[in-house]
Amino acid sequence: MISDKVVGFGNWVTRLRKVKAKAENILILFPHCLQWSKCQCNIISNLSNCKKCGRCKIKDLIEIGEKYGVQVSLASGGRQAIKRVKDGTVKAVIAVACEKELCMGMMAVMPKPVLGVVNLRPNGPCVDTDVDMKKLEEGLKEILDK
Ligand code: SF4
Repeated sequence: MISDKVVGFGNWVTRLRKVKAKAENILILFPHCLQWSKCQCNIISNLSNCKKCGRCKIKDLIEIGEKYGVQVSLASGGRQAIKRVKDGTVKAVIAVACEKELCMGMMAVMPKPVLGVVNLRPNGPCVDTDVDMKKLEEGLKEILDK
């Protein structure tokens, strides 16, 4: 898959640049499909509406944001994600998405450094997706300027 290779290349370039950013300038961005599809919490309007039940990874993403003091944001669409990434306070991004979305997003926000974490899709695309939090945290530690 070409988008897979583009994401790999983008991550390689970000690592080659040895990007470092302060916690408050790092954004973890993730898609709405990570939310458990039966959850009634309206996290699109406000992430803090998540009740942190642990049924999906939204809880873990909020908590990793709190642990490191980084920005976390849910993007309900590609255009919104790009707008969020282009915010002046954001110097580096850890983005969770499928290969296709990551590929398009990484190219759209260049030269802003992005580390892409491809989501897991045990239920097929776009529904009840998942993310390897260990991989995400490793990426975060790589770019975090302590
Ligand atoms: S962690 Fe629980 S409350 Fe939060 S979005 Fe997921 S299912 Fe909903």
